[in-house]
Amino acid sequence: MRLLLVGPPGSGKGTQAGRLAAHYGIAHLASGDLLRREVEQGTPIGKIAAGYIQRGDLVPDEIALRVMAGPILEAARRGGYVLDGFPRTVHQAEEAYRMAERIDGIELQAVVHLKVGRDELRRRLLYRHGQEGRADDIQATINHRLRVYDAETAPLLDFYARRGLVAEVNGEKHPDKVFAHIVAALDALESERRRPV
Ligand code: AMP
Repeated sequence: MRLLLVGPPGSGKGTQAGRLAAHYGIAHLASGDLLRREVEQGTPIGKIAAGYIQRGDLVPDEIALRVMAGPILEAARRGGYVLDGFPRTVHQAEEAYRMAERIDGIELQAVVHLKVGRDELRRRLLYRHGQEGRADDIQATINHRLRVYDAETAPLLDFYARRGLVAEVNGEKHPDKVFAHIVAALDALESERRRPV
């Protein structure tokens, strides 16, 4: 199984990706986590990424691609992945698509769009700031990240919808319900694909 979760910051991508990874026995690849690790370790990539993450801007596409390409190839070989936070721009999606054209068995099979209203997102991110202390979960940066999501990431949904890959899921429910909806939506997408034309 090879999946991507798309949704604004606070929509529950990390929580649901972790559950899906356990459920399907696949790798959870979170670009934000991998980038934060580079920052903590003070690597050359981390030194470039730090300022962007702090401001709530996206790191340059080449940086995101460089961090994610290896883990995606490795996970695809081992049975699959759930991507959380990458691709995050249409350019990243196009580049990933070009890579998948050259290598068999790595392309995305489904995209789950987690839909959550703005008030709920702000509430969750401020709560997470209290719990985890992430520096980019403060009010001003939250608003900026939501604008970046609308401008840069939301257009991905059209890109994947044109390829018949997108399942829409209401992300405002209890995490158990959201998880059940995702699994049901993935099953529906799969049987749709298998239906003879
Ligand atoms: P996240 O943990 O997914 O909210 O990501 C935290 C931050 O990491 C984002 O605000 C970006 O600065 C950066 N980031 C994560 N994934 C990407 C990506 N695919 N492209 C560019 N920047 C990213």
